[in-house]
Amino acid sequence: MVTNVPTIDITEKESSLLLVAENDLAENGKTDIKCPRCGGAIVATNFDTSYTVGCEFDCVKIGFRGI
Ligand SMILES: [Zn+2]
Repeated sequence: MVTNVPTIDITEKESSLLLVAENDLAENGKTDIKCPRCGGAIVATNFDTSYTVGCEFDCVKIGFRGI
């Protein structure tokens, strides 16, 4: 079970894009999706029990928390 934890105010379109990128990263370890705001790479950052997927420059980001 994973809950989305918004960490930055992003649009639904940006959110769905990051979800696709997250799926790519989980399955393939990489994604071709770029940041919709600056064109930067989308990267995943792991914390202890959660992780975030978002722009390398932090302009869009979505958080996931394991339960
Ligand atoms: Zn960006």
